[in-house]
Amino acid sequence: MIGVIKANAYGSVASSIAEKLVRLGIEALAVAYAKEAAQLRQIGIKVPILVFYPQLENFNNIIHHNLEPVLYSKKSWGKFAESVREEKKAAYPIHIKYNTGLNRIGFHPDEANWVLEEISNAPFEVKSIYSHLGQTESPKPDAETERQIGLFKEIMQKHKKANDLKPEFHLLNTSGLFNYPEYHLDWVRVGIGLYGFANNPEWNGTLQPVAQLKTNITQIHEIKAGETVGYNCGWKAPRNTRVGVLPIGHADGFSRQYGHGKGWVSIDGHKAQVVGNVCMDMIMVELGDISCDEGSEVVVIGSGVRADELAENAGTISYELLSALGNRIPRIIKT
Ligand SMILES: *Cc1c(COP(=O)(O)O)cnc(C)c1O
Repeated sequence: MIGVIKANAYGSVASSIAEKLVRLGIEALAVAYAKEAAQLRQIGIKVPILVFYPQLENFNNIIHHNLEPVLYSKKSWGKFAESVREEKKAAYPIHIKYNTGLNRIGFHPDEANWVLEEISNAPFEVKSIYSHLGQTESPKPDAETERQIGLFKEIMQKHKKANDLKPEFHLLNTSGLFNYPEYHLDWVRVGIGLYGFANNPEWNGTLQPVAQLKTNITQIHEIKAGETVGYNCGWKAPRNTRVGVLPIGHADGFSRQYGHGKGWVSIDGHKAQVVGNVCMDMIMVELGDISCDEGSEVVVIGSGVRADELAENAGTISYELLSALGNRIPRIIKT
């Protein structure tokens, strides 16, 4: 398994997650950009680290920190070969990515012959060859996924035949791991699953979220029917009620999309809806009769508020909600 810990380990704490995964015997880690990996090297993480989206101007940094770039185009291939020679290295570990249909990054399948020719002259050790599927969470059978897998199988055959190299092959992310057990191949690249989510209620049931986000009520107001709450009179109380003010806002990644009842928190096991607009630093929630006081604990994400359900209710996904959680939120690690 490659443990994907990009974006601060999906909004948690990349350093701690990396250390934990290394203790558990992970074979390799992956991040999006070189800077994320350099930070892991600085705290002493020694396992291979793939850089999924290396930027050409950072190639020397990749070598200095002993990172493993993913090469995805003739240009990235040529430029990295140049950097490796400049740094007087040989057999430098790299990974090759093919674009089988997502049209994000990757060599076109027709470029496989070019890649095969270049491999023998390049100062590289090809550690793995992979592609990324666009919709592994879709119910099977899924025509586009099958088309992508078919293309990747052809690419695998070519690479297996052509060289006496023995690269590893991989295709699947978290939902692919659940949905396509027949294509686990040599490695799987698991991100969101490490944090407890798998894009499907059935698979979610087999995982546990690794973190909770909690806060405390800053202030409580008694509101009369007809009074408004928040910027632009965002909510008009339809009844006499209580409103709690919480110290988290859109600057912390609690997006404005969660305003106007799209988002909620859990207090004493009860759902309290966000009323009006989300502010930069605070939100207001309707408390009604929930038993609580100023200072009471509030679950923002955790028991009673699943990140994927909250995200979906506001038209986004758990990945965005988690990875957008800001630096201002203290991370507390329980070991
Ligand atoms: C982020 C990423 C993953 C992890 O995906 P999850 O759905 O979070 O498991 C795997 N592969 C690539 C190329 C990625 O960019």
